[in-house]
Amino acid sequence: MKKILHAILIGIIVLGLAQTTVADPTKAKEPVDRITFIHYRDGRVKVEGRPKPAKTPTCYKLLGIKWKRLPVSYVISPQVNKDAILAATVEWDAHTRANLFGGYEVDESANFDDYPDGRNEYSLGNYPQEGVIAVTRIWYTRYSKEIVEYDVMFDSEFTWGDATANPEVMDWQNIATHETGHGLGLGDVYQSVCSQVTMYGYSDYGETDKRTLELPDIIGLQKLYGR
Ligand SMILES: [Zn+2]
Repeated sequence: MKKILHAILIGIIVLGLAQTTVADPTKAKEPVDRITFIHYRDGRVKVEGRPKPAKTPTCYKLLGIKWKRLPVSYVISPQVNKDAILAATVEWDAHTRANLFGGYEVDESANFDDYPDGRNEYSLGNYPQEGVIAVTRIWYTRYSKEIVEYDVMFDSEFTWGDATANPEVMDWQNIATHETGHGLGLGDVYQSVCSQVTMYGYSDYGETDKRTLELPDIIGLQKLYGR
């Protein structure tokens, strides 16, 4: 009886996972699943397809997935502020011994994918819901939990710029640093006591605090990629 129950349980789990299965251009020998973080201006973050999160210490959250083949290269749309993306990747790289990010290219074909295409892309686009600041989607192998791709889309609904020069804009670098944290395997944190950390899930016009990592962000990063 126990065995039958076990089989049924496995069946249910497999069925549940199958719903999020997507095509896999990386030709891995296992299925690739995805998680999508949708950031709304009013502070909501909708997460689609999140795996069971690891135990969550204060002010950082590990998604239970990480890059295993480094460095990660990426593609930036010419509509996105390139310097902000570079600064975001440099900031994460500066706090771990791993060499996280390698080369990049600027290419107008950079877009936000439904299915993985092997390119880690930063683009500007319009998410089909109101009030979305940015969306990050991560693809990872189901069993070995290896991140194989991430895409970030900044929403054209907002006015983007450098908030240190104009507080009425959504700051490219601020949001880029947060979204890149997702791309590395970190989740959002929501407790108001964590409001200063880069991976805090809420943002707004004029915010620049998230450009630089705080200690909890660094601890989370180093758990994944070393000190
Ligand atoms: Zn987030």
